[in-house]
Amino acid sequence: MSYVKKLKCLLCGTEYDANEVKYNCPKCGDEGVLEIIYDYLKIKKDFNRDTLKKNREFSMWRYLPLLPVDDPAKIGPSKVGWTPLYEAKRIREDLDMLNLWIKDDGRNPTASLKDRPSAIAVIKARELGEKIVTCASTGNAASSLAGAAASVGLKSYIFVPQTAPSAKIAQLLVFGSTVFAVRGTYDEAFDLSIEATREFGWYNRNTAFNPYMVEGKKTVALEIIEQMDFEVPDYLFVPVGDGCIISGVAKAYKDMFSLGLIDHLPKLVAVQAEGCKPIVEAVNGDGEVKFVEPNTIADSIAVGIPRNRLMAVRDIIKSRGFGIAVRDKEILEAIKYLGTVQGIFAEPAGSTAFAGMVKALKEKKISKKDKIVVLVTGNGLKDVESAKKAGGEALVIDPNLEAVKETMN
Ligand SMILES: *Cc1c(COP(=O)(O)O)cnc(C)c1O
Ligand SMILES: [Zn+2]
Repeated sequence: MSYVKKLKCLLCGTEYDANEVKYNCPKCGDEGVLEIIYDYLKIKKDFNRDTLKKNREFSMWRYLPLLPVDDPAKIGPSKVGWTPLYEAKRIREDLDMLNLWIKDDGRNPTASLKDRPSAIAVIKARELGEKIVTCASTGNAASSLAGAAASVGLKSYIFVPQTAPSAKIAQLLVFGSTVFAVRGTYDEAFDLSIEATREFGWYNRNTAFNPYMVEGKKTVALEIIEQMDFEVPDYLFVPVGDGCIISGVAKAYKDMFSLGLIDHLPKLVAVQAEGCKPIVEAVNGDGEVKFVEPNTIADSIAVGIPRNRLMAVRDIIKSRGFGIAVRDKEILEAIKYLGTVQGIFAEPAGSTAFAGMVKALKEKKISKKDKIVVLVTGNGLKDVESAKKAGGEALVIDPNLEAVKETMN
């Protein structure tokens, strides 16, 4: 059995046993997102710097004591996590920064950070004996869930906006999902998937509906903590859509703090696109999230109704961080820059946090001496159209050396 003690409602504070609830707080409905509370005293006995040092499991499962997994035999075969944290030396040099790290989470089985929470969703489904999983997604939650489900023989029914990048839809189809391409936004697909879940009784992975997704997402930051040898950065830049990754990052640091493995917490910076920045506005303003119609190239964070808004806003403000919005043009420039200067290939949402870091530096919200970690959350092959917009055109030539020479002039 896991070390989960209780599931606690963010809104009303009611605590539940894990087998009492499946999704949100029954009293509070949609906004009653449940947080997972662990028994840290017990975890301490099995989990410390020594056990980590000896641990040869280089995947997200090296943090099993801090995860809501009751039956480790249900863990799927795909290797999720332990992605590289780069010192980004060429970017450090180019930007004259001393302490920059980039976590490339596009290096996961289906090429985004979402493989982490989806792996947990599939385990929970199997523990419950469910055979069919579902979710609504801008694309990556879906493709990761479909891949994880396929790897253990579960069926998946997936709701995505019809406008999702075709590579993400192609992944779903190859993984054998039944794909509903919804004529509407992600926000509409989300509500539809919940209705379908109620109607058909499938197991639902939706962000801030399924309470375990923050726990999967936090493993990205558990890795960062270890990869930085328990040094805590000043700022962590995170792209924000529903606000679940950023709360996962916060949870990782809180977990490690509760276990006495770090002595303070980093400031969290939420980065969104100018055309969809409800969380940024909320944390820089009065904390209230106002819903918007998304308009951005960064499809993975085109979320007008952020489902994990209450937890995310709370976590960002508590960390004494801030929000920053970047234009689509800056997102595309960041794709090109990460690729050209450091050989890292990001999708638009994947480069957004980096674009935000560059902007924060320009606006002197952070300094070049600060210790900074930037999350790259998804690989560039996920959205080839945007990659081409960022990368420019090839030189089209006749098949002879003269033609090559002419282009060199
Ligand atoms: C889902 C996603 C995000 C945003 O995560 P949230 O938990 O929705 O805030 C950022 N980048 C990529 C590539 C994603 O797939
Ligand atoms: Zn409640």
